[in-house]
Amino acid sequence: MNNRLFTSSRSEMLIQSEIRNMSIECDNVGGINLSQGVCDLPLPDAVRQGAHLAIDEGFNTYTRYDGLQELREAIAKKAVKYNAIQCDPNKNIIVSAGATGALYSACLALLDPGDEVIIFEPYYGYHINTFNAAGVVSKYVKLKPPSWTFNIEEVEKAITPKTRGIMINTPANPSGKVFTREELKSLAELCNRYDLFVFTDEIYEYFLYDNGKHISPASMQEFNGRTITISGYSKTFSITGWRIGYCICDERWSETIGYVNDLVYVCGPAPLQMGVAKGINDLSDGFYSAISREYQEKRDRLCSVLKKIGLTPYVPQGAYYVLADVSSIAGATSKEKAMSILKKTGVASVPGSAFYHADGGDNLVRFCFAKKDPILNEACERLLSLKR
Ligand code: PMP
Repeated sequence: MNNRLFTSSRSEMLIQSEIRNMSIECDNVGGINLSQGVCDLPLPDAVRQGAHLAIDEGFNTYTRYDGLQELREAIAKKAVKYNAIQCDPNKNIIVSAGATGALYSACLALLDPGDEVIIFEPYYGYHINTFNAAGVVSKYVKLKPPSWTFNIEEVEKAITPKTRGIMINTPANPSGKVFTREELKSLAELCNRYDLFVFTDEIYEYFLYDNGKHISPASMQEFNGRTITISGYSKTFSITGWRIGYCICDERWSETIGYVNDLVYVCGPAPLQMGVAKGINDLSDGFYSAISREYQEKRDRLCSVLKKIGLTPYVPQGAYYVLADVSSIAGATSKEKAMSILKKTGVASVPGSAFYHADGGDNLVRFCFAKKDPILNEACERLLSLKR
């Protein structure tokens, strides 16, 4: 009989994460891991207490497939206030297993194998792998450094009869790009003309620097209800392991996305949903503005060191990563360059090629600055040795 024990072709499409590889290399040398986007800062007390209380009070069973009422109501209030997105907690919100779960559910609910989605590169690898897992083909448009702008004609050229959507990530990982209203308007015009969905990952919505403003495409009339807004609290509350995210969209799509979410995840972790709801309800505006202040300070510290050692940073406007120009480091590929930095300094970064599908990123590496101050300071100290 023929061999029938093999892995699916779908799984073979998944790109192995270079981030995970660099983390292993980093552990091997006992280095400081600035490759992974895991913020190890403490979580807010209200969030922790909310989850504790929920466990003690017995919120330990399945929640509704689209999330706890308390959490959906809290998200809806926040969406109106912070994002200027009008939404009904009972019709437009699906709580999922992180932003990752929300995007996966939305893809399976709205896209068919063979459909195409346009994505900007440098991209966040999970977006590509989520599309790959759903059989959706990514079409790439390059963002141009230093300010990571795009050419709208190139976006239009990437559209084919199979195109169903555009993926936006603002503020973006890894570039830190914050999309401007003008850029979003130009994309909205295309999306209306070609009748496309807009998947918009806004997980870094509170990580904004130099007084930047976050604009949710869903708040703009121009997008006409075609937006699938994805976000969550992994980053804002420093709870990446809790797996609480959500999507907001028109009710034409939310029920189906909810069904997929139910099938794959059943629901987000019940007591942790309570913790996040308490956090959203109790924390003041000051908590969110402090995030920007605190992370801008970390960004500036790392960027000034990168400048000093000749790894010119593309100073990010948002999120908590910095892409640095590593042309001055010996090596044929960004992987060799990242390894060379790790060997010389014990600081791990991600090779730029991890954020591009073909060529690109060879002279880039990404550092994550969402680290406690003593760790970031030690990393900066070690990086400075490159100059000596
Ligand atoms: N989107 C982006 C752009 C990210 O960088 C990350 C984390 N690296 C996520 C989503 C993951 O979010 P979550 O933990 O809510 O799944």
